[in-house]
Order: sequence, then structure tokens, then C-alpha cells
Amino acid sequence: MKETILGVHVSNETYDSIKKQLFQHMEDNKQSFIVAVNPEKIIKASQDSSLKELINGADYQIPDGVGVLIASKLQGGSITNRITGIDLMNVLIEEASIRAKKVFFYGGKPGIAEAAKQKLLEKYPSLIVSGVMDGYVKDNQQIIDTINAADPDILFVALGSPKQEEWIRDNRSKLNVSVFQGVGGSFDVFAGNIKRAPAFFRRFGLEWLYRLLKEPWRLKRQLALPKFLLKVITTGRK
Ligand code: UDP
Repeated sequence: MKETILGVHVSNETYDSIKKQLFQHMEDNKQSFIVAVNPEKIIKASQDSSLKELINGADYQIPDGVGVLIASKLQGGSITNRITGIDLMNVLIEEASIRAKKVFFYGGKPGIAEAAKQKLLEKYPSLIVSGVMDGYVKDNQQIIDTINAADPDILFVALGSPKQEEWIRDNRSKLNVSVFQGVGGSFDVFAGNIKRAPAFFRRFGLEWLYRLLKEPWRLKRQLALPKFLLKVITTGRK
């Protein structure tokens, strides 16, 4: 199920429903492409038709950010479940380790994907990481060949947005992979380089407040949220 916010598709799923669909598609040899959307990306996409096409062309647009839920509510929609990129990645990794499916980490600075792999193996000892590659390799054919040789079921791509989504769009047909997820800075988080907000803030969807308290200069960026919500109210559902 999907809803549209300022012309951008947003999937209405839960971690469980999306997990079930993705692993079913894997059995059916079908590809799935997951992109995380937040108010910032929706605003950008509403003003840039090629970015909008890129996002809408994915199979799942997960609502990563409470701003998206508020927008849905304001326009009479029904998205109430936040699905963050990093938590979905965790859910898919756990399920992959249970079902003996292979994962590949592509992106981040040299050594980061490997460090994330080591940390995740401590948590999920039966996880099969069939390969890792940093995000600064120039030869695209080499990247494709390395990934195909590793034959993963799930490919996590961490090149930042929208670079990672463009890369997935342009290369998915060459890859023998079922699930593609763009995960931004998630390898850095799993590797332990970047700390997430404490549980209290996460539980109530207050990561933005935690970040604001730590980095007050982000206020200007965060003021984009009320602007976004106002735009949703005045534009309505399209
Ligand atoms: N990155 C990369 N190759 C590039 C540019 C960026 O691997 O050519 C990586 C970078 O090392 C970092 C991530 O992409 O780990 C960028 O994450 P960021 O948090 O900026 O992305 P966002 O979550 O904002 O999309």
C-alpha cells in the first residue's frame, strides 16, 4: 500500500510486512529496491522531477522520519509506522541470518563496511556476509563483477543520497541480487563510528531534538519541517 505526499510515493508498511514481502520476492526471483524518504527528500523531489522519478521508481519508499507521519496525518492519510533505514537493515540482517541468505555491504570509507561486518557477526554469528567493498572504487565494472561473484541475496548500498539510489537504479539489472537497500551512513553506525540517539529519544521519535541539543546550529535545517508541513496542508494530496 502506498500514499503520495507532495507527489512522492510513501509505502504504508510495518517492519514485519515489508520483511515478509522482501523474502517472498527473493523466493520468486524478483528484485526489490528500497529507498528511505524523509521531509527533506520529499521537498527536494517535489521541486526536481528527476529525483521524484528516481524515488517513485523504487519498489518501497520507507517513511524514515516522524515528519512524514505528521504529513500523512495532516492530509488524512494512514501512515502511522515509521520505518527507518537502519532499523530495516537490522531486521533484514537478522532474518537473513536465520534463513541463511547472503548479504553484501557496498559503500563507506575504506575499512568501514568490514568493521560493520565484524560488529554484525558478533551479534548474528550465523550471518553470511558474502562480501564488502568501500564506496570509493572508481571502476564500476569491477564493482559489478565483485558483487556478482559474491552472489548476495541482499545488497546494502551506503554512498549517501541520492548517489546510492542512482547507482542502484543504473545497475540493478546487471546484478544478480534480489533486495537493494540504500542505507546512507548506516555502516558507520554499525561500525560504531557514529552514535545513534539514546533509546528514550528514539522511542518517541525525538532524534531531531537530540540532534538539536547536541548541534544547535542544525536549527536552520530543522525549520524546514514546519515549512514542509505547511506545504502539505496547502497543497493537499496529489
Ligand atoms: N560515501 C561513499 N562514496 C562516495 C560518497 C559517500 O561511500 O562517493 C559514503 C560516505 O563514506 C558515508 C556515506 O556514503 O559513509 C554518506 O552517508 P551520509 O550520512 O552522508 O548519507 P545520508 O544518510 O545523508 O544519505
